[in-house]
Formats: sequence, structure tokens, C-alpha cells
Amino acid sequence: MANARLVLVFALVGTVLHAAELGRPEPLAGYSDEAARVERDWEAKFQAIPSPENLREYNRRMSARPHHVGSPYDKDNAEWILAKFKAWGLDAHLETFEVLFPTPKERAVELVEPTKFVAKLQEPTVPVDPTSNQHDEQLPTYNAYSADGDVTAPLVYVNYGVPEDYEKLERLGVSVKGAIVIARYGASWRGIKPKVAAEHGALGCLIYSDPRDDGYFEGEVFPEGAWRPPDGVQRGSVMDMVIHPGDPLTPAVGATKEAQRLALGEAQVFTKIPTLPLSYADAQPLLAALKGPVAPEAWRGALPITYRIGPGPAKVHLRVKANWDIKTIYDIIVRIPGSTYPDEWIVRGNHHDAWVNGADDPLSAMAAEMEEARAFAELLKQGWKPKRTIIYCAWDGEEEGLLGSTEWAETHADELRQHAVTYLNTDANGRGYLYAGGSHTLERFLNGVARDITDPEKKIPVWKRRQLQRIAEAESPEEREEARNRPDLRIGALGSGSDYTVFLDHLGVASLNLGYGGEDEGGIYHSIYDDFYWYTHFSDTDFTYGRALAQTVGTAVMRLADAELLPFDFTNFADTVHKYADELKKLLKSKQDEIRERNRQIEEGVFTATADPKKVSVPPPVEEVPPYLNFAPLDNALEALTRSAAHYQKACAKAQENGGAALARASLRAVDAKLIESERQLTSPEGLPGHPWFKHQIYAPGAYTGYGVKTIPGVREAIEQKKWKEADEQMARVGRRLEAEAALIDSATEELEKALR
Ligand SMILES: [Zn+2]
Repeated sequence: MANARLVLVFALVGTVLHAAELGRPEPLAGYSDEAARVERDWEAKFQAIPSPENLREYNRRMSARPHHVGSPYDKDNAEWILAKFKAWGLDAHLETFEVLFPTPKERAVELVEPTKFVAKLQEPTVPVDPTSNQHDEQLPTYNAYSADGDVTAPLVYVNYGVPEDYEKLERLGVSVKGAIVIARYGASWRGIKPKVAAEHGALGCLIYSDPRDDGYFEGEVFPEGAWRPPDGVQRGSVMDMVIHPGDPLTPAVGATKEAQRLALGEAQVFTKIPTLPLSYADAQPLLAALKGPVAPEAWRGALPITYRIGPGPAKVHLRVKANWDIKTIYDIIVRIPGSTYPDEWIVRGNHHDAWVNGADDPLSAMAAEMEEARAFAELLKQGWKPKRTIIYCAWDGEEEGLLGSTEWAETHADELRQHAVTYLNTDANGRGYLYAGGSHTLERFLNGVARDITDPEKKIPVWKRRQLQRIAEAESPEEREEARNRPDLRIGALGSGSDYTVFLDHLGVASLNLGYGGEDEGGIYHSIYDDFYWYTHFSDTDFTYGRALAQTVGTAVMRLADAELLPFDFTNFADTVHKYADELKKLLKSKQDEIRERNRQIEEGVFTATADPKKVSVPPPVEEVPPYLNFAPLDNALEALTRSAAHYQKACAKAQENGGAALARASLRAVDAKLIESERQLTSPEGLPGHPWFKHQIYAPGAYTGYGVKTIPGVREAIEQKKWKEADEQMARVGRRLEAEAALIDSATEELEKALR
């Protein structure tokens, strides 16, 4: 699952003159000048090690055969990765878990009226692509964790199948009750589509890839180009991960052999209705057989048909049946013990499993992680002694529902809560710009790292390139101004969609998700064509961005592991939460204005007067105007947070004075302990309303967007779902978390001042 990175915003910026541009190295936050000099020497040695040739070789080896959970080559890859780590002299071991992983037993989609058509549900061999013919080992096209079912019903086209699309259907007088819906991929995480369809009474769900979104409308299709060919299918999980990711049978505990398991019927995360993915070659005859209203312009894709909504007369038969088996997954864990502060852990991970061959997702980034580990092994031999413990993880079972990372982190939850400083994730990599998302307490730190990495194509810092892109693409003068003048580029917030989820959302470990992209688009995501041939023809063909990724993440890991004081910053965090609070106020105001205006138009008779009597059109119902909410708890907490962040920043600046001599002498463990605690403070044990597994009060995946992040999610979703009492309650809860955060930062400031005295 890597598509999420494409929606992350690494905003950023600036014409601020940095020390580096003036010819002297920038001081490193959390380092005395002397320690920074030593660190930069080690980092330079590190950055010289990762090699594109090795990245190519690892990728070729691991993508040679399909390696989904439960396949022989998944285990083979895990053992090979383990052997590599060991051969480099690292302390590595396997951890296995037993998880529920359904695979297809029966799949059928056929048009039964008004004409007959049977969908192929098969991706053909492409002769020039040497791994595309491994049909015996390929997982058939399907959506994992779909309910079993056998239904025949009229078809309805629902665009992307998100809640707004159903509001539109209501206006058009179309109901999906008792129907099979066909939705296109995009606009939400795929698991949301069957969920919303079932909530509206649909009996089945088909999800297809429209050529407008990742096929010939975008560019030449594979194998001539990078885009999705007519028979290419996006596999994927439809587990309801907004309830909880990980093994469906062991929520919130590790899926060890001995773990207590739910019965199959007790699991909460399967779809309610049978669901299957389709290629556009298979979808076209179904869509072409629809009548009823012509689809609104924004709903039309790029197939050469008139897009209509139905219902019917197209009638479809859909059958899905899975083998509901327990499979073993293999996580590889490497431990480099810290020399000075072994109880503070820097955790880094990427998954190794794929839907099929997975050269892009995940191996392009998995290979980079391996090169980082190899380089660290080299440095250790040369005498490098990281102060903190470094833990490298290669996860299994990410694609199905973040299984490997979630089960491992749930198993080790107590230790992680105590020791984990940060979690750094990657999932796939391509050519172009650095994309980053994550905890805003690490925003400044990450900007520092990005200034020190050279872009392989442009030979300028990747930070600078991203800033200039930001200026070029700014959508308003304010945005452009910010890109030029804000000292740090903004990083996006994380929703879900990769292995950071359990660390950030469940355990409250400050996290980052990183990757290069923007010049590497294509339409092979989760198909058999995401393979070595595609990757070496259309993505990072010379693996230099793979090297840049290893350099970026490895440098971040080293810099966190070696710092005298952890380089957390709270001023950017406070600034960001401020922005989120302003967005919430605007959201409420626009809802009020919109409903007020619509009610007025209903009263004026606008809808009845303008509806074409020859077409069905249902006027919207009169709605209650949203009440004013009490933002005071949030505003007051933000005041406190902003003040505390500034005090801490001042204390840090003091610590860096005179070459940071104080940092070198002071014992800063008590400060680190508070900093490690800082992301935990943002979680609340009750979790989010209706989603108690998700504890973080600032970031969460949206209940109806999936991957897409909702910031200050308790309040935002309550407003979006018109739960006004809950919105006020959540406002108070977030306010308490931010007040507690401010108090914690104050105590960190006190500890720092004490240590410097
Ligand atoms: Zn992935």
C-alpha cells in the first residue's frame, strides 16, 4: 500500500539564508558543535555507502516471484533478508505471527440481462515482461476480507462511492437498495466503498479502475508506457481498518500462536457485502448496459460510452467465496544496541510482502532499508557507536491490513510505550521530490535532514528542490509567500495506509513516512505488472532515488540515534495545530452558511422551479442550521501550547550557546524522557468515538476517507457527521490533551534549565 504517499503534502519553502549557504555547517539541533562535527563525519561516510547496483540486485531477487502472505516465496524472501542482515554482522531474528488471511476460492462476475457477458477476472501475460506469466503463483484478482456471497441484482453506477456521491444519487431519485453498485477506484480508500454501499442497502460492490484515473487518459499504457492496461486490476484489502488494522481475530493483542482468537463470526472488520475488483476491460460492458439518468459530468470517466447511473436494466451476478485460512507471517527484526542510552529506541520499518511481484510496492523502498542496514554494519566495523538503540524491521502482511507491524507492535506494546522515541516508515519509492508526512514535533528535524541530502537529478539539496516546486505550484499568493519565507517546509499529516499506523495512532510514537515521487506515475499499482520489468523501464530506472531514500532515512536515523538531546521541536507543532483549529472553525461556518442558504432556496421554491419535469429530481430536505460550538477549550489550550513551545525553544537555544558546551556536559536523560512522552500525551486511552483502537487525538484516518487524514479527528468528524453534542465533548477532550502536552513541555523546559545550570 503505497499510494498514500502521493497525497502527502510536503509543503515548503524559503529564501532564508542558511548557515550552509554561507559556507559554514549548520549547527545540529541537540548536538554541541564538537558532537555535530563528529556526527557529520559519520553521516558523510554513511551517505557514500548505499549503492544503486545493490538496490537493483535486491529488487530483482525479491521481485523474481510473487510473494504475498502464505506463498512459498514470501517465506523465502524473509529468510533471505534475515540471512543478509546476519551476513553483514547484525543481530537479526524472525518473529512470526498467525493471522487470518482469506484467499479466493470462487469468483464470478457476469452480466445476465439485458445481454450476457462474463468478466475475465484475469490479467494476461505481456510477452516482453518476463514475470507476468507466473500465473500459477499469482494471487487472483480480488479484495481481501470481502464477505462471501452470491447475489444477482440490478447494477447502479455510484462514481467513487463516497458519501457525497450518495447524496447526489438521492437528488437524482436513485436508490441502491437491493442493487449491486459499481464504483471506480479513487477519492477514498477502497475499503470505504463497500462500507458506504452496504450502509445504503446495496447487496454487492464492484470496484473498477477507470482509464481516466490511471489508464490511457493519463498516458500510454503498459508495456508501451507506465499506465494501466485494459486488463490490469488493482487488488487490495477492503478490511474496515478504521475499526482496527491487523489480524481480524486478535484485535489489540499480538497474534501469537497462544493468543485468544475471536471466532470468524465475531470479527468486526470484514465487509458486509461481497466485493470484487475489475479491470476496465471487464467493467466497460457492464457500464455500457446501464440506462437511467446520464451521470453528472464530474462522474464521467474516459471509457468511450455515455456514463449512465441505472439502476438496471443491466443485471449482474456476483459470487465471491474465500478460503478463510490462518497463515504464518514473518517479520525480520534487527537490533543495534545503543552505546550510551540503550533504553531509547529509534525504530525504522518497511514491508517486504507484496500483492504480486511488487518491485515498486514495496521493494523499491525495502531495498533502500536494506542498504541502510548494510551501511550501518559497515560503520559499526569502523567504530561508529550510536548512542541510542536502533531497531530495523522488515514487515510481512502489510498489504492485507498492516498485519506484520500491527501484530509486532501490539505484542511489544509495553516496551514500545516505554522506549520508542520515533518510528520512521517507507513503503515505495520513485523519481522526483521528497514527500514527507508525520508528527509535527519532527517537522523541523526532518527539514534539517532534507537540507543535507543531494537530489540525484538536479544536484541541489532535496529540500531546495521541494521548496522551489512548492513556489511553482502554489495555488495562492499566501501559499507562495509561505513557501518562500517559512523557514521549514510543512509536512503533511498521516492518515493510514502503511505500517506507521500502529505506532502513531495506537501507541503514540512520533512517526515519519518518507518517499520520493512525482516523476514516476503509473497505473500498475497492486497488479501483476508492478514488477522488475515495469520498475526498470518506467520508474527509478537507475535506482539513484533509491540511494537518495537510503541516504535520507539513514541520516535521519543516525541523527536521532546520536543526538545529545533529542531534536524535538514544539513551535511548528503548535503552529500546525493552530492551523487545524482554524480549519475547524471555517468548516463549521461554511456548514452553517451552506445549510442556511439551501433552506432559503427550498423556501423560495428554487429547486421545484428549476427541476426539469421530464427528469427525476428530488429536492433536498430542510436541515437544521448547525449550532455555534464552544471552541474555548481548544483556543485556551493552544495559547498554553504556543507559550510552552516558545519557552522550550528558548531553553534549547540557550543550550546551543557557546558551541553547545552545556549539551556535552549536562545529563539530559530526564529531558529526553519527557520528549519521548510528548507524542503519548496526545493519545487518550478511550480512543476516538466509535474507533477506540485509534488513540491519537490530533491525527487519524477518516472514517469515510480511509487513507485520508482527519486532523483533530474527534471534533472534525463530529462536525462532518452533524453530531453537535459530541463535537463539544471532543473539543473539551482535545483541549485537555493539549493542556497536558503544554504542561509536559514546561516540565521538559524545567529539566533542561536544571541540567544546564
Ligand atoms: Zn506497500
